[in-house]
Formats: sequence, C-alpha cells, structure tokens
Amino acid sequence: MAEKLQIAVFHGDGIGPEIMAPTLSILAQLSEQTEDYTLEFRDVPAGAAHYAQTGESFPKTSMNAARQADAILLSAMGLPDVRYPDGTEISPQIDLRKALGLFAGVRPVRVRAGQATPLALPPGKEIDFVLIRESTEGLFHTQGCGEVTEDEARETLLITREVCEKLFRFSFQLAHDRKSSGQGRGRVTCVDKANVFRAFAFFRDLFDAEAERHPDLVADHAYVDATALWMVQKPWEFDVLVTENMFGDILSDLGAGLMGGLGLAPSADIGLDHAVFQPCHGSAPDIAGEGIANPFAMFQSAAMMLEWLGLRHQIPALSRDGQRLHAAVDSVVSEGRILTRDLGGEADTLAAARAVADRVFSV
Ligand code: ATP
Ligand code: MG
Repeated sequence: MAEKLQIAVFHGDGIGPEIMAPTLSILAQLSEQTEDYTLEFRDVPAGAAHYAQTGESFPKTSMNAARQADAILLSAMGLPDVRYPDGTEISPQIDLRKALGLFAGVRPVRVRAGQATPLALPPGKEIDFVLIRESTEGLFHTQGCGEVTEDEARETLLITREVCEKLFRFSFQLAHDRKSSGQGRGRVTCVDKANVFRAFAFFRDLFDAEAERHPDLVADHAYVDATALWMVQKPWEFDVLVTENMFGDILSDLGAGLMGGLGLAPSADIGLDHAVFQPCHGSAPDIAGEGIANPFAMFQSAAMMLEWLGLRHQIPALSRDGQRLHAAVDSVVSEGRILTRDLGGEADTLAAARAVADRVFSV
C-alpha cells in the first residue's frame, strides 16, 4: 500500500506563490503515477503578506502543521516594506529553523557539463559538491542581541559539542549516501579557522572524533580562506564540505555564484526529525506578479525533498523521482533553449515549468 506523506506547504510572499504552483503540480503528478507513495499537501499560512492582512506572521496552527508534517516545502518569504514595528524582517523560515532544531543547512553546488558558469571548467570536469552550513549557533549565536556600547561592540562565537556531534554525523552520513549512489567521492572536508580561534580547534577536534568512525571515507580539513580560493580554482575536487554558520553563509553565496546565480540554487535545512526545503533566493518583490520568476531552484529544492523522504522512509521510488526531477532541470538548463530572463533567456515561469514537466514525464 502507498505510504502517505504529509507535506506542509508555505506558498510565501512575492514570487513565492508563482514558483510554488508549478512545483506542486509536478509533485502531484509524480505522486499520482506511482503506487509506492502518496503526497498529501497542506497549505500553511505565514509570511509578510499574511502579517499585513492579519497582524500575525506565523500563526501557532501553522507551526503545529509544520511540526506534524513529514516534510516542509517553502518558497520564499518576507517583503522589504512589511516589517515588525521594531523594524526587523518577517522571516518565518528562521523561526522554523530555531523551533525545529534544523542544524544542517544543506546547499548543493552543481554545474553539469554544458551549463553556464563564470569559471572555465577543464574538459570533463563538473562541479558537484554539497556545502553543509551549521545553522543554529556559531557566529550567529548573538544575532540581534550582541552588546553594543558607545565605544565597542561584541558578538559571541558559540560552538557546542551537542550540535557539532549531530552536524558531523549528518555530514559523514551524507558522504556515505552520495558515495553509494555513485554521485560523491567519499570525502568530507571540515572548513574552519582552527589556526586562529580555539573555538574552531574544538570544532575540528569534534570533526576528527566523528571521522574516526568512518575509515571508508576521506576526512580532511581546510581553512575557510583557502576554501574560498579553491572553490574558484578547483571546485571539482570537493565532495561534502561542513562549516560554521557565518562561514557557510558566505561560502554558499560563492557556491551560488559558481552556478551562475541564485536562480539555480536550492537548499534544505535539516534536523533530526524535521526538514525544510526552499530555494536560496528571496521573494524577489521587484518581479513579483509578472509571471517571469525562475522556478528551477524551487524545483530542485522539491527534488531534494523527495530524495530525503526516500532515504528516510526507505521508499526507492521517492528517491528515483527526486533524481528524475533533478535530471529534468539539468537537461533543460544544459540545453539552454528555454530559460527565464535571469538565466539569459526569454521564457516565462509557465513555459520554463512546462519544459521541465515535459521532460520529467517523457522518461
Ligand atoms: P532575501 O533577503 O530574502 O534573501 P534578497 O534581497 O537577497 O532577498 P532576492 O529576493 O533573492 O533578494 O532577489 C535578488 C535579485 O534576484 C532580485 O533582482 C530578484 O528579482 C532576483 N531573483 C531572485 N530570485 C529569482 C527568481 N527565482 N527568478 C528570477 N529572479 C530572481
Ligand atoms: Mg538574500
């Protein structure tokens, strides 16, 4: 019997609903075509537009729905001109990260042969690595409540054993999964600044302790500055990179740059029992309502969700469908005929979505 999986859906703000609609349509079709699983979608209100209408940015019922779901799919949230009275941004995605303990920010960086990238890739080389950004502590620990006086300002870098142990276990598991699916190289690199900060030496020690449990994987270290250089000079050598919150924030934008921009950058925020899948880009209010937003990063985030659910629930059909969706986006992008404006094409959201859907369902 088909296993039923509940997906909490945050349609979001700005271009959010425009890219979520075609995503749900592809997911619903995939689900209809198989006996192995059934996806059930539950719309969950939250975000800046919801706040403007109701005075609530993230109703309790929405948080409960997210908590109960098997996975959470989120487009983009927040609008520059809708803020809390104290001026802070409305970002339910950050509330979710905190409430559900989503410690691992997973940012795949993939450039297939034939796809546009600002680098000149040597023949036969493709970029395919995953950056894992610790997402609950590090240099973001005092976010919004650092100490500032007339003469000085202080923020705290917090690294805890508890979070690092989960983070590194997750990173090595991902390297195993990638290796066994033939995608990865079986390598995990700890990115830090252990030469300068004791907190990062601690981070590295905890990494090494986990590495000892995985003699079949290569574990190594790199300083964050050198990593930035190598991401440009030889990114094809990386497999899984794991790093602290702020370093991960910065390197993931560098990674998005390698892919030619935010329009092709998916992400997942993963904890022990919950996971949120969303594109790296924001709600793009400058083009909202025009029907020209690029839906590909949203599709890739949905594909990551299927793969994650497939492994977690041991349903190979889900993982396979995730790979189909990834492959369909790759093929449309490599072909370069039907691209949205941000990627240099002229297609609108619906045409780009149709091109991907045609490819998913033609194989
Ligand atoms: P946030 O603070 O939420 O990350 P941001 O200020 O970084 O938002 P985005 O909303 O990501 O900004 O938009 C940055 C630029 O990229 C804008 O010009 C926007 O139109 C463009 N952009 C972002 N996402 C897309 C997309 N899916 N398709 C086309 N253009 C996009
Ligand atoms: Mg941004």
